[in-house]
Amino acid sequence: MSHTYSPRTRLLRAGRPHGGWVNTPVTRASSYIFKDIAHWRETRARRDTERLLSYGARGTDSTYALEDALTELEGGYRAKAFPTGQAAIATIFMAYLKSGDHALITDAVYAPVRRFCSRQLTKMGVGYDYYRADGADLAARITPQTRLIYVESPGSLAYEMVDLPAIVKIAQEHNCLVAVDNTWGSGVLYHPLQLGADISVMAGTKYLGGHADVMIGAVVTTQKAWQLLEEATVDFGQTVGADDAWLTLRGIRSLMVRMAAHERNAMEVAKWLVEQDEIARVHCPALPDHPSHMLWKRDCSGTNGLLTLEFTKEFDSHNAERFIEGLGLFGIGASWGGFESLVLPVDMGSARSVTDWVDHGPMVRLHIGLESPQDLISDLAAGLKALKVKD
Ligand SMILES: *Cc1c(COP(=O)(O)O)cnc(C)c1O
Repeated sequence: MSHTYSPRTRLLRAGRPHGGWVNTPVTRASSYIFKDIAHWRETRARRDTERLLSYGARGTDSTYALEDALTELEGGYRAKAFPTGQAAIATIFMAYLKSGDHALITDAVYAPVRRFCSRQLTKMGVGYDYYRADGADLAARITPQTRLIYVESPGSLAYEMVDLPAIVKIAQEHNCLVAVDNTWGSGVLYHPLQLGADISVMAGTKYLGGHADVMIGAVVTTQKAWQLLEEATVDFGQTVGADDAWLTLRGIRSLMVRMAAHERNAMEVAKWLVEQDEIARVHCPALPDHPSHMLWKRDCSGTNGLLTLEFTKEFDSHNAERFIEGLGLFGIGASWGGFESLVLPVDMGSARSVTDWVDHGPMVRLHIGLESPQDLISDLAAGLKALKVKD
């Protein structure tokens, strides 16, 4: 009767052995030895559609255990793990698009995906256009060649959301698949497949791993979208090592409690930040003045540790850099989702191409970690002092 358990309980049971050790042991492996020729032949005939042990790159006990937990997390048909989030995203584009096809991509996309499109999709003869981060112009940009709508909601840096069920409806009318980058929600806060999307992709490097010690990507799809993903994954030789699969699975066991703690800390820090004179706005969809707050309330179950600060227009990017230099607890570094706090300057001018981003002050992205929120607030206060220092 496992279907009666809550998602939280099911997630803690997914990807574990039936009896014996609590956890699936780490299986570092390449060659798999078959019982006899008939076993070898039968496995090879069935392994494209069934999950059978046959060769390390096709999956081991360790990667299958992770895939089970990912499938449970996103509520899909099956899952694949990739060496990075970016590799997972690239494989999606190559799995579902061919020369002559057209893709629509959100203007709020994770920046390296833009680079992938301009360098690789172009080479493949795939056309693409960006649509507004709020999805308002999406229907008007569909062409008869459009086969894939690529969504990131909430989007990178400013966390704009789209009305995903409405986009799914448009996609179905035009025979398009919908893929969603769900790194922000990480299977906890947002559920794209439940809202009708065909494919969900996550940078497990962020919250799934959760400890800044593993690179991993994950794709979960519906049954309809599965076979093309499976084939592309095998054809491009994408797989992950057993240690990385194990680390990610270990991270997933505490994902729900970590996410709730990131949310509590971020909300406490945000409450302080919005009161500061130097700050014009704190971008976070959980805050009532965010343009996507109503969609966030409807479709998300909480928020994470990400806050993007916008200083008032009297300051410029040099002030923002002084603010960053004035921080002691926030590491200057890419990625997020680990236990530690991070900070980076944000250049929205280059991060958006169809959405006007004018008349804004300089911006800085914070990842609020699991440190004491009082310590983080004191640190941010020191940063605000440094911001105002004249050269
Ligand atoms: C970090 C990130 C990725 C890429 O993940 P990597 O594991 O660093 O390649 C993709 N999408 C979003 C939204 C991200 O934040």
